[in-house]
Amino acid sequence: MTEQVAIGIAGVGKIARDQHLPAIAGHSGFKLIAGASRNARIDGVHNYQNVEDMLAAEPLLQAVSLCAPPQVRFSQARAALEAGKHVMLEKPPGASVTEVSVLAALAQQNHCTLFASWHSRHAPGVDVARAWLAGKTITAVNVLWKEDVRRWHPGQEWIWQPGGLGVFDPGINALSIITRILPHAFFLKSAELFVPANRHNPIAANLDFSDALGTPIRAEFDWRFGPQELWQIEVTTRDGILHLAQGGKFLKIDGEVQDIGGEREYPSLYDRFFELISTGSSDVDVSPLQHVADAMLLGSRHEVEKFED
Ligand code: NAP
Repeated sequence: MTEQVAIGIAGVGKIARDQHLPAIAGHSGFKLIAGASRNARIDGVHNYQNVEDMLAAEPLLQAVSLCAPPQVRFSQARAALEAGKHVMLEKPPGASVTEVSVLAALAQQNHCTLFASWHSRHAPGVDVARAWLAGKTITAVNVLWKEDVRRWHPGQEWIWQPGGLGVFDPGINALSIITRILPHAFFLKSAELFVPANRHNPIAANLDFSDALGTPIRAEFDWRFGPQELWQIEVTTRDGILHLAQGGKFLKIDGEVQDIGGEREYPSLYDRFFELISTGSSDVDVSPLQHVADAMLLGSRHEVEKFED
């Protein structure tokens, strides 16, 4: 496939404007032709109130990128797949694990690509870390993913509502990285969830995982941290320590800073989406969301101070 893929965006908010629109504009494989958003408009393309109206009015549309909050992901994705469009899902790919499997089956039935994207996996240090860790003996993993919720999610109510994930909205980025770089599968053993008295979702969480060999994997997520965020993963091995920081943009191995190139997470996501469409395939890995679901299943909840935005 050499011609451009006609694409539409649904949910024109923070991430659509910060990342998706520039990434699509800079990609030779895609041409943005429409937007679907209740309140926002994209200059220079046709705009609709919702995905259904966009699908009905744009027969030339071939793909949609879904950037609204996760609670509405399933209904938008189902409509697009049933109309025969390729679909890219922002992270997290759904509000439940099982709904994403239903979408994967629907994509297959309709001969469409479904791409459950994990932008943090496209940070420049991730593939280098994965390659270095392959075959190493790992003795401990420590994840610290801490930031100020008021800085990163000002006024966003959906993050506190069921399906919005609370602190797991950023924490799932760390989980998407460790599920990619660690050579063995791991599972949750226990968790503590710290939930504001007036909210549904946790503002902080401590998670203890293990792999089949008993390797301790600890993750601490906290939204009450700042002003500088701390997004780091440290993997201790028998051959030295791997230190991934700044969300995957900085990598040090055994004390040596690695030259990993610049950040291009979203351009790389659209490269991948284009490749999947071109090869008639899908990429749907729910493992980061599965770990969050396990934390909600196993975690002990502790009530903490009310959160007011
Ligand atoms: P946002 O700005 O709050 O929401 C995006 C847009 O979705 C809103 O502006 C709204 O546009 C639409 N929307 C909101 N609620 C809706 C509903 N109930 N039904 C239909 N449309 C609705 O959120 P965001 O920060 O862009 O995050 C969106 C997704 O991207 C989340 O899954 C998040 O995890 C992911 N993400 C965010 C960031 C970030 O830095 N913010 C980074 C990476 C990934 P209209 O009112 O015009 O419909």
